[in-house]
Amino acid sequence: MKKIGLLGGMSWESTQHYYRLINEGVREELGGLHSAELLLYSVDFDPIEKLQHAGDWEGTEKILTAASLSLEKAGAEGLLICTNTMHKVAPGIEKALNIPLLHIADATAEALKRDGIETVGLLGTAFTMEQDFYKGRLTDKFGLDVLVPETEERQFVHDVIYQELCLGDIRENSAASYYGIMENLTDRGAQAVILGCTEIGTLVKQEKTDIKLYDTTEIHARKAVAFALS
Ligand code: GLU
Repeated sequence: MKKIGLLGGMSWESTQHYYRLINEGVREELGGLHSAELLLYSVDFDPIEKLQHAGDWEGTEKILTAASLSLEKAGAEGLLICTNTMHKVAPGIEKALNIPLLHIADATAEALKRDGIETVGLLGTAFTMEQDFYKGRLTDKFGLDVLVPETEERQFVHDVIYQELCLGDIRENSAASYYGIMENLTDRGAQAVILGCTEIGTLVKQEKTDIKLYDTTEIHARKAVAFALS
């Protein structure tokens, strides 16, 4: 089994689900008492979040590259950045590493393509919904048609992520608004919705909606299991 390096802590509220999902996936595949070989580097999210909102992506890249190199040095054979947003600096991190980076948007796009989805809604931080590193990658590399919420809805989705979900604060009224925003996306033609932030799965649940959801945390964790056992 290959050792997986997890670059987590962004936020730790979602990283804990990676730990569980990857271990469950390995147990499902191998049975018995098998569990995943994992290395976790969990960063302090507060300075990262401040740098993001100040637009200092170079600053975040330095911190995350150093952490990724520590994981490689410690024996990780593949790396997962456990957040969609910080894939903004994935190209720089990838360049510094000798081990493969399992890109969250690629794993998600592959899952959508397998299911024949062509037009998809995207929820995530404003960075993820608006910038090319994520939305552009889905479009340019995979030919997907990506719909994002309207401006005010995007702001709301973004604020709930940083002010509630990253703090483990799960509110029913926020969930109801998210379902409404997803419905607006399907009304505009989305065949499914990407939960493009690793905390959104703590708020909205597949069993509570008829809209097909693609939870990036689950998809990314599955990708890690397949890699570890390949
Ligand atoms: N975990 C989130 C994501 O998947 C947001 C937190 C962050 O900015 O990294 O985008």
